[in-house]
Order: sequence, then C-alpha cells, then structure tokens
Amino acid sequence: MFKNLTERFSKIFNKLSNQGKLTEKNIKETLREVEQALLEADVALSVVQNFTSSISKSCIGKSIEKSFTPGQELIKIVKQELIEILGKENNHLNLSTQNPSVIMIVGLQGHGKTTSIVKLGKMLKNTKNKKILLVSTDIYRPAAIKQLEVLSKKAKIDFYPSNIDQKPIQIVTKALEFAALKLYDILLIDTAGRLHTDKYMIDEVTNIQKKIQPIETLLVIDAMVGQDAINIVNNFNTNMSITGFIITKTDSDTRAGIALSMRFITKKPIKFISHGESLNEFEIFHPNRIVNRILGMGDMLSLIENIKNKINKENIKKFTHTIKSQNKFSYNDLLVQIQQIKKIGNVTKILNKLPKTGTIFKNIQYNINEQLLFKMETIIHSMTIEERKKPELIKGLRKRRIAKGSGISIQEINSLLKQFNNIKMMVNTIKKGGISKMMKGINK
Ligand code: GDP
Repeated sequence: MFKNLTERFSKIFNKLSNQGKLTEKNIKETLREVEQALLEADVALSVVQNFTSSISKSCIGKSIEKSFTPGQELIKIVKQELIEILGKENNHLNLSTQNPSVIMIVGLQGHGKTTSIVKLGKMLKNTKNKKILLVSTDIYRPAAIKQLEVLSKKAKIDFYPSNIDQKPIQIVTKALEFAALKLYDILLIDTAGRLHTDKYMIDEVTNIQKKIQPIETLLVIDAMVGQDAINIVNNFNTNMSITGFIITKTDSDTRAGIALSMRFITKKPIKFISHGESLNEFEIFHPNRIVNRILGMGDMLSLIENIKNKINKENIKKFTHTIKSQNKFSYNDLLVQIQQIKKIGNVTKILNKLPKTGTIFKNIQYNINEQLLFKMETIIHSMTIEERKKPELIKGLRKRRIAKGSGISIQEINSLLKQFNNIKMMVNTIKKGGISKMMKGINK
C-alpha cells in the first residue's frame, strides 16, 4: 500500500541530497514534488494543502538553508508533518472502564469486518492475555454467522452462537449477559454490512450502539476503495460515534492516500491495519513507524514484533550468536536463517519493513523472494559438510557436481553464490547497525 509513495519520496529525497546546497528555489521545487506525490497517492487535496503549507512554515521558521545538513533537516520536517497528519501517537484500545469491555465492529460488506474482529480477538488474547468472546449480529447472511464461528475456532477464541431468527438487539443483550456471567474480559461484536451505506444499516448499528454502549466502535475500511473511503467514513462518523478505524487489505496494490486523509479529516485515530488474509497479518497502527516506512527508513520495531511472535527464543539466541561471529557466517548458518525466514512468512513483506537505504539492502530487497530461498536451500542440501563450512571451496568441479545434484544450472548457482556474499555483507552491516542489541531485546 505504501510502496509507491515510498518510491516517490525516495527519488525526491535522493535528488535533494545530491544537491550540495539548499536554496529557496530547490526547497520550493521539492515541496511541489512532494505535493504531486501525495496527490497521486490519492491523499485528499485539503490534506495536501495543509501539509505543504505547514512544511513551508517550518522551513522558513528554521531557515533550513543555513543548516549544516539542510537535506536531512527538510526530510525531518516532512517526517514530523506526516506524523502530525497520521496522529502523533497510537491510540490504544480503551479497555479499562467496562467489565466486560465491549468492542463493536462496523463497516460495509466485504471490507474485512469478520476477518478483522477475529484477528483483533486473537491479538488481544495472545498479547494481553484477555478472555475473549465473539458474537455476530449479521442475521441477513446465515453464512456470516457460520464464518465467524469457523474463524473463531481456528483462532481458538470462544464464540457465542446466534441465529437468523433473532433480532440483533436481542443477540447482543444475551451475549453481554453471558459474557458478564462467565467473566469474559472482552466481548467483540461483529455487525452486518451492506454493499453501500444505507439508512437501514446505519440505524441498526446505531441502535445496537445505544443499547450496549460499547467502549470502542471501530469502523473497518477496505484500502482498495480509494477515494470513496472518505464518503463511507463520513456517512458512519456523522451518524454514530466512531472511536477509530481498522484499515484492511493494505497488502493490496493500492495508494496510501486514504490512510493519510482519514485521520486528518475525521480526527479519529487509525488503530489497526490488516495486511493479508492469514489471521496473524494484523498490526497495531503506529503512525511513527508507518511514516518511517513511507520515507524508506524501514520499520524495524514492527519487524521485530513479527519475528518475536513466530520464532522461538532458542533460534533467536543462535541468530544473535551467528551475527556476532560475523566472519564465520557459513552456508549452515544461512540454511538455519532460510528456515527461520520461511517460518515468519512472506519474505517480500518482511523485507519491505527493512530500511531501504544503502546498496546492500537494495540488492537484497529486489533480489530475494520465496523461490530464491527455495533454490538456495536446495543448493545447500547438495553441498558437502565441508563446503557448507567453507564457501570459498566451491569452485569448478565442485560447482558442477552441486549443479548436477541440485538440478540447478551453473549460471544460477553463480548468481546465488553472489547473493550469499550479499547476505553475508548485510549481516555484517546489520551487526554494525546494532541489530544484535535489538535481537537481544526479543529474548527477554
Ligand atoms: P466482511 O463482509 O466485512 O465481514 O468481510 P470479510 O471479513 O468476510 O472479508 C472479505 C474478504 O476479504 C475475505 O475473503 C477476507 O479473507 C478478505 N480480507 C480481509 N482482510 C484482508 C486483508 O487485510 N488482506 C487481504 N488480502 N484480504 C483480506
């Protein structure tokens, strides 16, 4: 979702850093390009205008042309203003005042309500150790109740059964009584959507909200709807009290504009983003980290949280140890890393969270994918124990033997050996950048 904007910003800032000196003229030019990039990313015009005018004011106030590193200074200002648009801090869920806390999810059909509610339940259960109950009030599509039941089971969360002969108000009243009686911490209510906002749907969710007084009412918005998101948001937000948003399908090839516009226009926070169909592809929305991602500065913290959930402590210890002994990085170490990376999930997604500065990262970024990892694994399996320990041994005859054994051509093996050197260099770079310290943090 943020990829296009990241690429645009990266080009703009690269150009800027190549200019020795900043003048009023090239600041203006940069801001015009930033404005263009945001408009092309579908950010609402009013938001863009506000953004560039704030940046201009900050530039004048700080007279950045005179600064020691003017390019960096301008990037810093752009970063601060982007965070301002997205909301300075992440607003966590308000879970302290109700018992059980009730969270209601609203939105249009197909936007990802049911999937998101289960993902949220799973996250709250696993990270906050909460006892969660899920219920559906979608009496219009029998398959919707079943879908929630199936997903709840998959996520190992309790499901409160409802049926299409009941009224939504009746369902939520009973579910709340049950949740209180059985000492659940959180009741999550899934509601019915329509293909378009209509009065009947809004009235229904508003009535449920009045009756049950949820502490949080989250509106789910599919990132793929583009500019239309603002109309949908306004329709819900003016008729009922929305406490925040969940943006789904951010893994799609859509423009980042809605994320930037929604918060600014409604002043309501984006609380979570969903980035895939699997139940783990769901994150707390941290404006600061997203802005870093947009500006090509990577998102190591989200990456580490991701890794933390999926890799066991023992292997992280081994990884930290391997990185520490940088000069001894062998094919055996690579094999362990490949197997770990495959456990974490989609490699491209993970690499997207790494900082994009530096040529080594660029090489890795563009050249690594699942298929390549599979090939590397096959090649390593065709090596002898000695060759795995001493990569420099792999020449002429040995290379031919490995090609035969793995069924992969010599040319490809050559290119993969080159990639290995890139990875080795990246490992060294990471070490210098202090990742081993961060990785140690995971062990706690
Ligand atoms: P609802 O009608 O609003 O409850 O929507 P669903 O939860 O049934 O989701 C509609 C479709 O979108 C399903 O096929 C989901 O698997 C898919 N979906 C939901 N969230 C995401 C996401 O973040 N990324 C992708 N790629 N698909 C998603």
